[in-house]
Amino acid sequence: MTFLERSRDPEAHKHWYGDMEASYLYSTGIAGEKFFSTLRDKGNIMGASCPKCKKVFLPPRMYCEICFSETKNWKDVGKEGKVETYSVAHVDIEGNPLDEPIVYGLIRFPRTEGGLVHVISVKPEKVKIGMKVKAKLKPKKERKGSILDIASFG
Ligand SMILES: [Zn+2]
Repeated sequence: MTFLERSRDPEAHKHWYGDMEASYLYSTGIAGEKFFSTLRDKGNIMGASCPKCKKVFLPPRMYCEICFSETKNWKDVGKEGKVETYSVAHVDIEGNPLDEPIVYGLIRFPRTEGGLVHVISVKPEKVKIGMKVKAKLKPKKERKGSILDIASFG
């Protein structure tokens, strides 16, 4: 069809069928690199603290999202947090039924902004919003510098 031809099919101009290949690399950045290497090497969960407004960000950020100051101070936030919210998965990423449901949750740590999304190793009927959980780390020799260095929270 050219510009001079008149179309009476509006769908013909809204759709284009085809395949789009896309692959992405996502860098952890400076703060993420320090977070993951400290988790791997020392087993500590670190947040970044703003020197001006004293907020601690987890996951860490290079700059405070409140006052834009550089977050130069790092703080070990400990291993214990509380379940902010959760969801129970009954199928895997391919949609296949799981043998056992998996509980995923957002874990908030005391006096921090943000939190970590991770597996909560309790039965679905036992999980509660506000329940205290503790990070269970993999043995040091199995850690790879990833969020999966934390095996689960429970
Ligand atoms: Zn700040």
